Amino acid sequence: MSKYPALFLHHNKAHAVRRFHPWVFSGAVKRKEGNPDQGDIVEVFSENGEYLGIGHFGTGSVSVRIFSFEKEENLTELWRKRFISAFDLRKAAGLAKSKNTNAYRLINAEGDGMPGLIVDYYNGTAVIQAHSKGMHAQREEFVEILKQGYAEKLQAVYDKSSATLYHKPDTESKDAANSDSYLFGHASETIIKENGNQFKVNWELGQKTGFFLDQRDNRLLLARYATGKKVLNTFCYSGGFSVYAAQAGATLVHSVDSSEKAVKWTNENIALNASGVEHQAYAADVFDFMKTAQDDYDVIVLDPPAFAKGQSARHAAIKAYTRLNHEAFKKIKKGGIVFTFSCSQVVDTEMFTGAVTSAAIESGRNIRVLHHLTQPADHPVSIFNPEGLYLKGLVGYVE
Ligand code: SAH
Repeated sequence: MSKYPALFLHHNKAHAVRRFHPWVFSGAVKRKEGNPDQGDIVEVFSENGEYLGIGHFGTGSVSVRIFSFEKEENLTELWRKRFISAFDLRKAAGLAKSKNTNAYRLINAEGDGMPGLIVDYYNGTAVIQAHSKGMHAQREEFVEILKQGYAEKLQAVYDKSSATLYHKPDTESKDAANSDSYLFGHASETIIKENGNQFKVNWELGQKTGFFLDQRDNRLLLARYATGKKVLNTFCYSGGFSVYAAQAGATLVHSVDSSEKAVKWTNENIALNASGVEHQAYAADVFDFMKTAQDDYDVIVLDPPAFAKGQSARHAAIKAYTRLNHEAFKKIKKGGIVFTFSCSQVVDTEMFTGAVTSAAIESGRNIRVLHHLTQPADHPVSIFNPEGLYLKGLVGYVE
């Protein structure tokens, strides 16, 4: 007898799990032994009792998020193994222990065998963002592992899960995150280094865990195109792309974000790195800004938030990507460069490329694709869970 509740899958539904796909959809479950609740640990079996894996139970469309396909006797040891393997990967990728970069995603959910868990490391502070109640319940164990792993380097661990937990906290559930809090130490902001550039990061007030680490490599690529150029960075947040452009010697940088706070942080981050550059940040809606924007930018960055959070919003999202890219193609100088992105998981690469193609047709400009971009090495994707790839980008040369 298993010490956990057991789920048995329909016989034609077990193959995906055998191929290490970590999600068991509710329709795949034939019967349950025990009465698991949201976030409980369960074991998964084939119809005739073959062991398939162990994971966290969910009451939504995904019944189990599997974190191991092997028999696990000691979960504390498993978490430790997962964190060590994640750290080793970041070291191999030149991120952990780098001189020029001290901020990276340490745990990227399924990509690190920890579905439902994000841990971002910002120069001594780890920010935990749980997307499942099951992972959230293990947070104290994660803090212990982080303390051992980083030793005296670790100043604080901040839990920022209140907005991301699938089941919103209710008054009866002691387990749920009612508010974000420090699980260890205290440090409300820091200055990180990314490829030698400095950024102030505030996880308490910032979006997501505080900074968009996933654009690190793409910012570096932008720097190659920015020297001597007029650059427009839309949806700038704290000015990631703006700082790289300024550092690379852009003649002018304009940054746009609808959030006043983002504009303030962009100005601060520009001042930290490249105070001499001609820079202006605008608090404005990008779609409005583009209507009256000047038409002599050499480089335009389009990095909007996820326009589609779920399948139902996909159609509207694709239309929004088309409209946004159309505006940029209309405005950019001949021979200009557009960096265009989508971080909507439900809009796949093909759909995104389709939206950009429609925009090119509508604008009457010819576009040659110079780079196909995606998320960096600290956002790894399990080959068995391609859904983990969410960031897509194209660099287009606009004639
Ligand atoms: N490129 C950024 C990350 C962008 S996140 C980086 O490298 O860090 C998306 C940003 O878009 C957020 O800062 C959000 O405030 C802003 N935003 C969302 N909708 C907007 C709109 N319609 N107009 C302007 N900014 C918007």
